Amino acid sequence: MLQQAEPRRTDNDISFLGTMNFEISDEQNLILNVVDEACKRIRPIEDKCYLEHKFNDQIYPIFKETHLLGLPVSRKYGDGQGADALTYALALERVGQEGTGVRTFLSGHTSLGQLTVQKWGTDSQKEEYLPKTTRGEKIMAFGLTEPTAGSDPASLRTSFEEKGNYFFLNGSKAWISNGSIADLIIVFAYPKGKSEGMCAFLVEKEYEGFEAGAIKNKLGLPTSDTGLLYFRDCKVPKENMLGPLGKGLSVAYSALMSGRLSVAAGCVGVIEDCLNESIRYAKERVQHKKKIGKHQLVQREITKISLDLETAKLLACKAALQKAKSDASPKDNELRGEADWMIAQAKYQAANASFDAADRAVQIFGANGYSFENRPARHLVDTRVCRIYEGADQILEQKIAVKLLGSDYEAFS
Ligand SMILES: Cc1cc2nc3c(=O)[nH]c(=O)nc-3n(C[C@H](O)[C@H](O)[C@H](O)COP(=O)(O)OP(=O)(O)OC[C@H]3O[C@@H](n4cnc5c(N)ncnc54)[C@H](O)[C@@H]3O)c2cc1C
Repeated sequence: MLQQAEPRRTDNDISFLGTMNFEISDEQNLILNVVDEACKRIRPIEDKCYLEHKFNDQIYPIFKETHLLGLPVSRKYGDGQGADALTYALALERVGQEGTGVRTFLSGHTSLGQLTVQKWGTDSQKEEYLPKTTRGEKIMAFGLTEPTAGSDPASLRTSFEEKGNYFFLNGSKAWISNGSIADLIIVFAYPKGKSEGMCAFLVEKEYEGFEAGAIKNKLGLPTSDTGLLYFRDCKVPKENMLGPLGKGLSVAYSALMSGRLSVAAGCVGVIEDCLNESIRYAKERVQHKKKIGKHQLVQREITKISLDLETAKLLACKAALQKAKSDASPKDNELRGEADWMIAQAKYQAANASFDAADRAVQIFGANGYSFENRPARHLVDTRVCRIYEGADQILEQKIAVKLLGSDYEAFS
């Protein structure tokens, strides 16, 4: 006898499609045009820096001049533009076309940094830091990962101790985007001698006992900063604890939701650029007396990139809309869980699809695809990190499946 199927989750029902509105208003278009202009200014500089294998120090000033450093932050704070989640995702998609390094800067500064302060900060923390970071007076970073704690952030070793009006932090953080250029970093630590009660702190680079350096010899992202941070009795004022005492993991997980969505959106941009570049090249390059675009096996590669784009874009936009719903009702745990799950799927799909698309684009370019002179090669090495950071593939695969199987099937806690 056939078993009765479990009822489908209503939000995954086809009726959900009716609640999705991907229409872009004039106001959203205005923002996206500014993003496009900024990206056009960044491109020649990024090209040059990439080939010279050096940090692109013009990304930040260009985004500052175009008032894009606080795109999704409330207009209450400095240069915040109050963009909704979908507009912000579409903006990151455009930025992603310029390369994962360019987009990673914004993810570290805005998605992981500012949005976390906006969600968890006290009024005075928000007043102190959001205007400065949206106006481009301070760059942000998010420091969770350590040399021995990555996928399992609960195992981190950085500690804090309360003495008088300060917390003293000891430990280190590794692989932190914007880490060596940031002025303000969200840092996670346990009370000294304990492995529970994690807290988050806002650490300014001038604080005594703080030091940072850049990681060299990365596989990709040569134009983007990735830092190592050291805390040696780093003296943090008491008012700089971010979020309630002991709620550091909740702060981290909420930041990762925004961060993952930004990765998904950026990867959609990577796929779009791979598609555009592949079409352009297939119409120019002649082999066997024909434009290579006339060879059907090349057409197949273009079809696959196009399908990667459509599926990744739909999932990213769907996740962005679900996040907006959840942000509007912050106390609704069910909505938050649904957004978390959709974002995990969008990030997983887009990260893998962008790597696949870059690989296909390199193939279409042949030997020219093997040169960093052309963007497909850069995308191939740069987008690889999207399958590692902000939840590696394996972690997201388990997260996605457990939501469907039920919490009894949790592979790890
Ligand atoms: C360029 C770059 C920028 C980064 N930016 C930041 C940043 O801004 N802030 C920050 O805090 N971190 C950042 N990271 C760190 C990143 O988030 C971590 O690398 C990531 O969480 C994975 O941790 P790990 O590298 O320690 O790998 P590990 O956790 O050691 O994992 C190694 C492998 O084992 C797998 N694995 C681990 N646990 C399990 C499990 N339970 N089941 C199945 N497989 C498992 C992983 O999926 C992976 O394949 C960045 C990393 C890079 C490379």
